[in-house]
Amino acid sequence: MQAFAQTADSVAATTKKLEKVRLVAEYFRSRPVEEADQAAVFFSGRAFPAWEERTLQVGGTLLWHTVGEISGKGEAALTAAYRRYGDLGAAAQDLLEHTAPARSSLSVSQLASAFDELARTSTAARKLNLLQDLLRRATAPEAKDVIKIISGDLRIGLRESLVEEAIAKAFDENVKTVQRANMLLGDIRETLRLAAEHKLDQAQMRLFHPIGFMLASPAQDAEEALSYFVRAAVEDKYDGIRAQAHVGGKDDPRVRLFSRTLDEISPAFPELPPALRAFPEPFILDGEILAWSPDTAQALPFSELQKRLGRKKVSEDMLRQVPVVYMAFDVLYAGGELLIEKPLEERRRILEQSFASVPKDGFIVEHGMATENPQGALIFEPAIGTRNGAPRVILAPAVTADSPESLEEIFSGARARGNEGLMIKDVQSPYTPGRRGKSWLKLKKELATLDVVVTAVEWGHGKRNKVLSDYTFAVRDSDKLLNVGKAYSGLTDAEIAEMTEWFKAHTLEDQGFRRTVEPKIVLEVAFNNMMRSSRHESGYALRFPRILRLRTDKSADEIDTLETVKEIFARQASGAKQKEAG
Ligand code: AMP
Repeated sequence: MQAFAQTADSVAATTKKLEKVRLVAEYFRSRPVEEADQAAVFFSGRAFPAWEERTLQVGGTLLWHTVGEISGKGEAALTAAYRRYGDLGAAAQDLLEHTAPARSSLSVSQLASAFDELARTSTAARKLNLLQDLLRRATAPEAKDVIKIISGDLRIGLRESLVEEAIAKAFDENVKTVQRANMLLGDIRETLRLAAEHKLDQAQMRLFHPIGFMLASPAQDAEEALSYFVRAAVEDKYDGIRAQAHVGGKDDPRVRLFSRTLDEISPAFPELPPALRAFPEPFILDGEILAWSPDTAQALPFSELQKRLGRKKVSEDMLRQVPVVYMAFDVLYAGGELLIEKPLEERRRILEQSFASVPKDGFIVEHGMATENPQGALIFEPAIGTRNGAPRVILAPAVTADSPESLEEIFSGARARGNEGLMIKDVQSPYTPGRRGKSWLKLKKELATLDVVVTAVEWGHGKRNKVLSDYTFAVRDSDKLLNVGKAYSGLTDAEIAEMTEWFKAHTLEDQGFRRTVEPKIVLEVAFNNMMRSSRHESGYALRFPRILRLRTDKSADEIDTLETVKEIFARQASGAKQKEAG
């Protein structure tokens, strides 16, 4: 681990991206492939490759106790060190400087085995033992990195995309080829191995390994939404949970649904796999899981769907009370072929054909949903349903729009159908996994909302003095989290109570009235406007922020960035000027 820790320190010491890439490439070249490949996972700030569902299940509190214990200095000293560095890894390094062994007896592969064991172990006491044993074998700088990897972020300004670049540089491969292989495999370890053998062209899409989701950029208004491309496909923006469906086809009964964080979520929606199994060929769909009213053939609000989330087992009652559907809007793999490089209009054609290919016997293929196109004609889209007629998998209706007026009209229709707004997509665009570009635009009602992560919480006032109800939240600026505001309301009492328990268990530092917490809880916040402010590190403050909802489907990696905050601020300023002028 020594070489790893030294490289990580050098990478942290420079702000230059190219230099970071050079340092990691040099490390990869200097180590045996069996070590470099595992280190690639750790450099990406992960304990396991992206596609894996395993997690360490080690919370901040457990780490905190472990460090306090093995340093022999107790938790008060740790709190003081944490205040100095604002980071548990760095605080641990400081405290362990004198107690940790001067020479390491921990190798990269031993760290990987220790992570395997931690993931397998479910009791807290046993985890504590394993962690203590692990950290006792590490030197102080190594312990810092181990703790940071466990917390899910190495914080040395290295994202997986830079690790891809380092692999390309180390093994003299094209960056695009490395990116493509890593996207298909979802496994940076295997990507490195193939690059080292110059066999990246062998990387193949694997069914049941999720690939990254294509993301959308916000559009201000109908005019902007049509300004980036010539022909637009327009779909309703449904308010549910994004899910990638992998279907094995008639020779393989497996069906798996993956969330945006690439976790498997099929067990939460047991009614969907049987319907998805109707597709005769192996197939990967992109779509949204929605709470659905079969009576009105419309989506129910997200709050309904939320009742089904976070449960280990879904009761029969729940299945009846909150039926769900899978609204399919894209296809990524069909007919034995990866389709992401094909333009959307062609993918859409294949998607429609796939619905048509579902055999009629045993499954009822019915009209799932009706929408009006801008010319006033009704479009009926097919759905795969159950025997009693309730739809389960619906082809998302799509219409074309070429003027802001027609878009406005479709927008009103979408709102009337109870949906959030519209998605406007370039019909000629390929599917770009994991990227937020201007080929998919979202048009929502709020002027702007931000996805932020909670960094600190405070006890509430009045009747809320027993719950942690005031949240300070941050946006991301590369590897740093910068606070932009504080919000008091928006969640239900039940949610606040549940979050209070979570924050208690994931406190990094207890300052009495306030606790800094693990930055994991993502919120969507709306606000009236934005000001420049020296109160928060971001340099901005949101005015009258309101929590719209918890985004359990998003991880802290996916929150909005300081860049977006600046864009919204600039837009707001130019909007104000236009108003003055007008
Ligand atoms: P946001 O979560 O606000 O960044 O908006 C993007 C999300 O909208 C996607 O990740 C999907 O979960 C969701 N969505 C709803 N309807 C659609 C649609 N028709 N096409 C693509 N994404 C959609």
